[in-house]
Amino acid sequence: MTTVWVSPSATSFACLCEPCLEAARASGDLFADALAGASVRGSIALEAETAEARCAAGHLVVLRRLERPPALARPDGRQLQLT
Ligand SMILES: [Zn+2]
Repeated sequence: MTTVWVSPSATSFACLCEPCLEAARASGDLFADALAGASVRGSIALEAETAEARCAAGHLVVLRRLERPPALARPDGRQLQLT
């Protein structure tokens, strides 16, 4: 299973399926062919914390959204008031 972390504002993703890369490596495929075969692309709803996708071979790819950095989530400068 491949886990992909997407940024807080991302609505699409592109990644490589790790099992496919492993399989290609084991069978001695050219690296370029391995990359093409393992490529997974898709979209993720902006409000979704997690999502699932499948590569061409059917392996599960789990998408997880990164936490929004506190500095961006609270642009009110509160952290600057500590001084
Ligand atoms: Zn795969």
